Amino acid sequence: MTEIKNPDVAQDVLIDKFGRRVDYIRLSVTDRCDFRCVYCMSEKMTFLPRERVLTLEEIYQLAQAFTSLGVKKIRLTGGEPLVRKGVTGLIRQLGQLDAELVITTNGSQLSTMASELRDAGVKRLNISLDSLRADRFKAMTRIGKLDQVLRGIDAAVAAGFERIKLNAVVMKGRNDDEVLDLVDYARDMGIDISFIEEMPLGNITSHDRAEAYCSSDEVRRLIEQRHPLVRTTEKTAGPSTYFRMNDSDSRVGFISPHSHNFCGDCNRVRVTVEGRLLLCLGNEHSVDLKAVLRAHPGDTERLRQALIDSMDLKPERHWFDLDDDEPQVVRFMNMTGG
Ligand code: SAM
Ligand code: SF4
Repeated sequence: MTEIKNPDVAQDVLIDKFGRRVDYIRLSVTDRCDFRCVYCMSEKMTFLPRERVLTLEEIYQLAQAFTSLGVKKIRLTGGEPLVRKGVTGLIRQLGQLDAELVITTNGSQLSTMASELRDAGVKRLNISLDSLRADRFKAMTRIGKLDQVLRGIDAAVAAGFERIKLNAVVMKGRNDDEVLDLVDYARDMGIDISFIEEMPLGNITSHDRAEAYCSSDEVRRLIEQRHPLVRTTEKTAGPSTYFRMNDSDSRVGFISPHSHNFCGDCNRVRVTVEGRLLLCLGNEHSVDLKAVLRAHPGDTERLRQALIDSMDLKPERHWFDLDDDEPQVVRFMNMTGG
């Protein structure tokens, strides 16, 4: 990519030095979670003390500043976003902003919260589900209960979200033999499903990531044993490619950070629950927005300027190398905001 300078006219939108427009943010509302998925966390995690975590009000101020700079989509994530106390109040406020509001969740709270979230203005949900077998689900999440999540998915479907998508991380020897069952479950529920290649975020000891690696192409071949897939032209400016089956409305997606480089048209940034603006999932380039928020409370212009200036730090691309003994990125996914 050729480096181009931010044009002066672009002051009310976020454009990086490679000319990419940022209009999508992922906000982590907590690093905590009621699960401990093997690819995401280590068994014993230390979570952040309260004073290091953005308040719900600060998260809202950030979202306002981003939307004033042309951000059109906000995804809440974590950790498990729905376990943060008071999160529904924040969601109601965010639902009033001029941006599409979506949530990534492990589904554990949906049986009681789904319709409230829909009323609050949440348009779409991504729900993580790696296995349909209770014992395996428990092994992969270390503490999760499958039936609780399946009830949550039922409640979400009943609540009438515009779209619901399942996310499954596929790992060799753990759940790769369930790919077809997961696709059939999504078809039965009338929802979409994406399969994710595991990323080397954080230092885990539960498994060897290179050994467990299952490429999107392998997963696709497994699915095509039963359901021929037709590539769609739908683009998300992200790592996903989508396919359709000719006898179902469910879409099948592949999120392939290893096998397909998607950085060229990246349109997103992330904010950790500590208020660290991460310019790239696979790099450490960041800006401390909490420092700006706390040093200058209520100073919207200063916050907006910090966001505009941050665009110069967005790196061109990331490199993930599974053969490297050290993770390229030491933070865990729950800190990053997946
Ligand atoms: N707790 C919520 C959930 O599980 O959906 C939201 C946060 S979670 C970090 C977001 C997504 O990241 C989940 O779909 C999860 O499967 C995925 N994820 C976590 N660690 C990952 C890793 N190392 N590689 C690939 N995906 C990962
Ligand atoms: Fe929690 Fe989601 Fe990470 Fe699993 S993937 S431990 S549910 S944050």
